[in-house]
Amino acid sequence: MPQATLIDGKAVAAELRDEIAAEIAAIKAASGRVPGLHVVLVGEDPASRVYVASKEKLAAAAGMNSVAHRLPAETSEADLLAKLAELNADDAVDGILVQLPLPKHIDSGRIIDAIDPAKDVDGLHPINAGKLAAGKNGLVPCTPLGSMLLLKRVLPSLSGLEAVVIGRSELVGRPAAQLLLQADCTVTIAHSRTKDLPAVVRRADIVIAAVGRPHFVKGAWIKPGATVIDVGINRLPDGKLVGDVDFTEAVAVAGAITPVPGGVGPMTIACLLRNTLTAFKARRA
Ligand code: NAP
Repeated sequence: MPQATLIDGKAVAAELRDEIAAEIAAIKAASGRVPGLHVVLVGEDPASRVYVASKEKLAAAAGMNSVAHRLPAETSEADLLAKLAELNADDAVDGILVQLPLPKHIDSGRIIDAIDPAKDVDGLHPINAGKLAAGKNGLVPCTPLGSMLLLKRVLPSLSGLEAVVIGRSELVGRPAAQLLLQADCTVTIAHSRTKDLPAVVRRADIVIAAVGRPHFVKGAWIKPGATVIDVGINRLPDGKLVGDVDFTEAVAVAGAITPVPGGVGPMTIACLLRNTLTAFKARRA
């Protein structure tokens, strides 16, 4: 029998999108303007095509000017940089997202560096990463931002809690740790070289798992009553999607847990819309 509270990311994301849509409708009524989100996809990667289509659709549904630029796989780095320069210079563009991964002949670091930090709604530009590390306002990567919003649904205050983030990627682990630190948690970042990971996880009131390995975090590692945010999205050979946490074991120990699918995943796109609205307001303030 499940004991943990299930954190319904699908419902929270739908609420967030509704709030964003209402705010955009009010802005439009007052000024005639709406935020513009431009997503750039290079190549034919099937998963990326699905992600881009869903970002495009949900941005339009929220009332944004939503544009997807689908470029052929053989697009050169120079041509992609020229496209970004065009979007950076276009005042009607508030948010730019380049869907990753890019084809191997393109240096994704150079591409991210070329996005105007004020329009970097994925929050990956070094200026935004630096602002986050310095505790200053900037655009924050969508998945960690969504994870924090889910945590706040079940924990009235994060202050003083022990948080363990498993994974140190620029996309998820590092920014998640920075956000937890800003919320006054005592933060540990674990990674592939961490010694005795089960013991490290066992002291956590909050566990954020961003590893990319199915069922990696075992129920026995989790402190009873802890809040578990499972960022992982892993496809098993039978096609089933599972997280990085062994859900069946963890749900019997944790106080609250996100399911996969239906947990952090839907929050990522909702936070992309939120970042686009934030960028729009900051640029026009
Ligand atoms: P990543 O860049 O591959 O990073 C994985 C991290 O896990 C690395 O820091 C790695 O440590 C650590 N790790 C690997 N094996 C480990 C082990 N045995 N013990 C402890 N740590 C270990 O992955 P990512 O981009 O952060 O993504 C992580 C997961 O989240 C993936 O399943 C991805 O699909 C999912 N994801 C979901 C969303 C969403 O919207 N829900 C968004 C983004 C990503 P080292 O640094 O030492 O190698």
